[in-house]
Amino acid sequence: MKDIDYHTLAETYKTPLYVYDLQKISSAFLRLKEAFRARKSLICYALKANSNLSIIHHLGTLGSGADCVSIGEVRRALRAGILKYKIIFSGVGKQDNEIQEALQSDILFLNVESEGELGRIESIAKSLNKVARISIRVNPNIDAKTHPYISTGLSENKFGVDIQQAKAMYIFAKNSPHIEPVGIHFHIGSQLTDIEPIKEAAHKVAQLAHSLIALKIDLKFFDVGGGIGIRYEEENLINPYDYAQAILEALYGLDLTIICEPGRFLVGESGVLLTRVLYEKHNGEKRFVITDAAMNDLMRPTLYHATHKIEYVEKIQNAEHIGERSVESSLCDMCDVVGPICESGDYLAKNIALPKLTHGDLLKIENVGAYGYSMASNYNTRLRPAEVVIENGRARLIKNRECFESLISDEEKLLHDSQTMDLQSIDSADSQSVDS
Ligand SMILES: *Cc1c(COP(=O)(O)O)cnc(C)c1O
Repeated sequence: MKDIDYHTLAETYKTPLYVYDLQKISSAFLRLKEAFRARKSLICYALKANSNLSIIHHLGTLGSGADCVSIGEVRRALRAGILKYKIIFSGVGKQDNEIQEALQSDILFLNVESEGELGRIESIAKSLNKVARISIRVNPNIDAKTHPYISTGLSENKFGVDIQQAKAMYIFAKNSPHIEPVGIHFHIGSQLTDIEPIKEAAHKVAQLAHSLIALKIDLKFFDVGGGIGIRYEEENLINPYDYAQAILEALYGLDLTIICEPGRFLVGESGVLLTRVLYEKHNGEKRFVITDAAMNDLMRPTLYHATHKIEYVEKIQNAEHIGERSVESSLCDMCDVVGPICESGDYLAKNIALPKLTHGDLLKIENVGAYGYSMASNYNTRLRPAEVVIENGRARLIKNRECFESLISDEEKLLHDSQTMDLQSIDSADSQSVDS
């Protein structure tokens, strides 16, 4: 394939800019789908990795469903054209209004994470005169061997319920006229690079499935969560074929449709973040390259100490200048790449080698398709970047750069709003004690 012309993209759409290659998303999806070929399977893309409607839609056209963790994500999935019977709703803290809307939207099922939640779902389903299809997220108490913030399968993590509790919940669900237990679920963590914990979890949960089926609980889906890792540095990779084999093996003797919920695996490697150099500076011995992208645009380095490869994008030069720059580029010194935010934690890379850089030089940050834009914020009143996809050699804008006016319009309207609420009665006890 022809190289992507990052300079033209950066000039046209400005920086910082997220650029996604749809071809890479397609090939990741098809690799996984192919690995599960032997069985009925449904891939539900985990929207939180990258929830742009164009990305969701693209995966939808390939046959993907959606794994959502808020009602907002369920709405995104529906708006992007994902079929309702391919949408599942997971998450440890679903609110009443979210449960209600999910039931009214008639999605495939809700992944339930506590007894309390199951109770809320039952009473909401009852009030709507509906039967809620559910699956229970089992916490198999297995160490996924990933970063602690994205490890979710240990008892010490807030996710899911233990096997005994799950069993009790299935029996409750079976006996309720308003709940239909249709699936069983686990998700032990993200950026998994070792297949053993997945294997172990699949076997544990399959055992539970066997005993539930013996209790005449009519399971249809075996949801193995997401978590397949990608290569940021030199990580070991889980091969989709081995992954599928491990799950098929665990499912021996069970006639269940496999659901998996990959996020990062489908979109992570498709994305780059383009950013321009603002300044270079030296504090003593230390060299800093300051870019127009910051931790609000890409939080992973700050949050997880994640490493993203950063490359200088060579200028496209007239013939007479060739040579001049490449001599310079060969002189690579170590530096930290940092953003303009007022935090020492605001960095994109530490101790990496880059050539001497000047104002306006273009850098490309790799593998940011997952948990890049979707974790971006407005900290420091920075406007979130634009997003572009590349398809068949053409670029298409899928999200405009945020604009200042729309960012503050709500606050500005309220700035001169004279409507107030009387808090006297609530305050009085406090203020008395202050007075006396
Ligand atoms: C985050 C999440 C996923 C996706 O994780 P990836 O590592 O991006 O594949 C899948 N399922 C659930 C329940 C999640 O919370």
